[in-house]
Amino acid sequence: MSTNIVKGKWEKGKGKSLFITSPFSHLPFPLKKPELLAPAGNFEKLQAALIYGADAIYFGGKNFSLRAFGDNFTRDEILKAVDFTHALGKKIYAAVNIFAHNRDIADLADYLKFLDRAGVDAILVSDLGVLSLAKELTNLKIHVSTQANVTNWRAAKFFSDLGASRIVLARELTCAEILEIKSNCAAELEIFVHGAMCISYSGRCWLSKFLTGRDGNQGACTHSCRWKYNLVEETRPGEYFPIGEDERGSYVMNSKDLCLLPYLDKVIESGVTSLKIEGRMKSVNYVAGVVKVYRAAIDSYFDGAFEIRSEWLDELNKIAHRPYTSGFFMSDGKPTEIYDMSKPSRSSNFLGIVRAFDASTMTATIEQRGKFAIGERVEFFQPHGKTFSQTITAMRDADGLEISSAPHAQQIVKIPVADPVETWSLMREV
Ligand code: SF4
Repeated sequence: MSTNIVKGKWEKGKGKSLFITSPFSHLPFPLKKPELLAPAGNFEKLQAALIYGADAIYFGGKNFSLRAFGDNFTRDEILKAVDFTHALGKKIYAAVNIFAHNRDIADLADYLKFLDRAGVDAILVSDLGVLSLAKELTNLKIHVSTQANVTNWRAAKFFSDLGASRIVLARELTCAEILEIKSNCAAELEIFVHGAMCISYSGRCWLSKFLTGRDGNQGACTHSCRWKYNLVEETRPGEYFPIGEDERGSYVMNSKDLCLLPYLDKVIESGVTSLKIEGRMKSVNYVAGVVKVYRAAIDSYFDGAFEIRSEWLDELNKIAHRPYTSGFFMSDGKPTEIYDMSKPSRSSNFLGIVRAFDASTMTATIEQRGKFAIGERVEFFQPHGKTFSQTITAMRDADGLEISSAPHAQQIVKIPVADPVETWSLMREV
């Protein structure tokens, strides 16, 4: 069924509601500002996500989440993360989305009870066993992970009837399909709007396990779909025969990265509750940059003045990424794979985080993340203010001694700045 979304009139003074009309007779429905949900691979990324404008974050513990190689959170860190997030009035969700085996159940029960006591706002699950365990032992809200591959309203309704309060839909859905699910399911819906994609249904893939023994469904994917493949005949080891659809190469399974920013109005008008950014393994620079762009875009839509600003696209292009695609959302038939490269583009070099600013001396205290030196041109990407650039004219170390470069990881450096700069700003190479 085709869907023609027509924006209705902005109804001022009605709780920021906006009504849409659609071919589905039981719509229009009131639109609320959706939650912006960001990944938190560690505590610093959690802080960055919330400070740069996320409404909520999701994280994994040391076990039972599908990012075995992420830093992930210890139990003490989870308690600290919950306190930090709730102090800002925001929400925190724990990914418990492995496909559990019998041997996992006892430890899972203990972990779920801990998450309940810790006060996380919801857990993300894929496995029906984990869902039933959480329902039996805890009062935790349950979000069904994209790993469960919900692609139709019957599946969404089934999970809702089982007690899930939110369904993270599979990425393999069009805007029209999402609208139809929304119209037939009482549970909240969450969709991915930005980040890397799987060539297989949201990670339900055996490729990595088959080739390396590391299981994507246990959080240990080696991203084998990104590798460059050749053909070798068994009696000619070392002789690689290229394979590929054409002269560009053989990255035949390498997906582009999802970016729904250009279609954010349609995303919001599909009535989903939460817009999710992928990337628990990605950098602070990625989290801060992507969150700030989507925050500004969502706010501008609800301020009634939505247009895609070039500065947003510029920022998304500065962050390491593969070519962007709208994936399945627009179902426009454009290719979603990239055949001529497997590595993401290089991101603007992230040099440090502003930890303090002294307005009386116009000095910023920077925690180093990449080498920099006097004479280099840098920019300050701020949580709220505009990005500005300048040349580093002087540097002192934590003891006030003059230095000419900052080669040491996490070294504290003070530099004069041209403009007032917010703490948590990122200093980056221009
Ligand atoms: S190998 Fe690729 S498609 Fe398979 S789970 Fe890993 S990232 Fe996804």
